[in-house]
Amino acid sequence: MKKLYKKADVVIIGGGVFGCAIAYYYTRNNPGKKIIILDRNELCNSATSHAAALVTKIRAKRHFIPLSLETYKVVSEMEKILGESMDMKFSGVLHLAASEAREADLKELMEIAKEFNQPANYISADEAHKLSPWLKTDEASLIGYMPEEAYCDPYLLGTFFSRCAKMQGAEFLQGVEATELIIENNDILGVKTTIGDIIANKTIIASGAWAPLFARQAGIGLPMAPTRSQYWITEKNPIFPANSPIVLLPDAQAYARPEGGSLLFGIREKNSMSVAADIIPSDINQFSFSEDKGMQDLSEVIDRLARFFPKVYDIGMKYYVAGFSGYTPDNNLSMGVAPGINNLLLATGCVGAGISVSGGVGLAFAELAAGHSNPYDFSEFDIKRFGDIDPFSPEWLERCARARSTKVSG
Ligand SMILES: Cc1cc2nc3c(=O)[nH]c(=O)nc-3n(C[C@H](O)[C@H](O)[C@H](O)COP(=O)(O)OP(=O)(O)OC[C@H]3O[C@@H](n4cnc5c(N)ncnc54)[C@H](O)[C@@H]3O)c2cc1C
Repeated sequence: MKKLYKKADVVIIGGGVFGCAIAYYYTRNNPGKKIIILDRNELCNSATSHAAALVTKIRAKRHFIPLSLETYKVVSEMEKILGESMDMKFSGVLHLAASEAREADLKELMEIAKEFNQPANYISADEAHKLSPWLKTDEASLIGYMPEEAYCDPYLLGTFFSRCAKMQGAEFLQGVEATELIIENNDILGVKTTIGDIIANKTIIASGAWAPLFARQAGIGLPMAPTRSQYWITEKNPIFPANSPIVLLPDAQAYARPEGGSLLFGIREKNSMSVAADIIPSDINQFSFSEDKGMQDLSEVIDRLARFFPKVYDIGMKYYVAGFSGYTPDNNLSMGVAPGINNLLLATGCVGAGISVSGGVGLAFAELAAGHSNPYDFSEFDIKRFGDIDPFSPEWLERCARARSTKVSG
């Protein structure tokens, strides 16, 4: 049996953006309390460092919005603490609608922006083309522009959280693996790790794609499936000015943003890939996401994208990036207080939006871990909303994969 490593008020399994954000808020709001965050690799090595990192504020799912607004707020707060800029790119976002259904969605989105006091206005096809010269706008019937949306460097965001948390007293253990929850009767007492047991009043699972494995130990069928997200970065070209906006193309189920003179773009594949958490290696770089760098997937949907980005047929692709996010059948987050067992919290099921919502998620779990009430409404994210499910079954994986391939919003 391993000896006790340490006692803490809170232990977090996983040092991605969620784990680091929770650590930041917990140490900010509870000075003197002890929190330990462990990651078996380096911090932010997995989904976090692979994200396209659109920090979307305005979306159709209203209950995500306060969480993302908090992310914007905390970035400036941390910039002050560290005396450094995170160099967030306030590029704005263009939403193009090229069908009646998407026009209706865009009109609703513009109303939502107003509701949340976010600037948003319609612009002409010519204006949009001037902002993003690669964009063919003649099929767009309506274009919305939200100038205060941004993207960021996701690794920097994660490490801003961890650096500030460390300054405030958090203990980060890298290269330390959580092997098993310590359970007594109906209570979680902490976690066994490769360097000894960590006993804590509250244990938080923030282990991203691997979260269903720990949830299973606690008797919970966590409703999410690790699902591949992938994007491509083109070669440089003057049609991709570095200061041009993010572009959302719901009719093509695609998004794009500048990446230092190149274009980064993603598109929903016809067949998304969801896998059971127990087949993913601990080092995500050892997982083969696509042998042909997503070219087959891209070729199946490229015509959809070419309506708005005709150059996609002949521009060179310089990089291919893929990783896992926790998807759910309703594209809602899957997180909160663990049902049916004490002292366990699940900061999981990010549905490809974890960078955007990290501020609110961090604050919510820091409050819950301190025994306070959640400042946000998490009812839509309830872990029991699908009933009893087996997150490792082929049927469940298929439901989650379908949710990704049919998703139209960014
Ligand atoms: C290609 C791609 C594009 C994306 N684009 C966007 C975007 O534009 N906007 C957006 O908001 N989001 C985006 N996302 C989603 C975003 O990256 C995730 O939602 C977010 O990073 C989730 O953070 P996390 O902390 O939950 O998970 P992770 O970053 O995966 O962190 C989990 C951590 O747990 C650790 N861990 C696992 N098991 C153990 C164990 N047993 N012991 C110790 N440590 C363990 C892992 O090493 C890892 O570091 C994208 C994701 C991908 C893959």
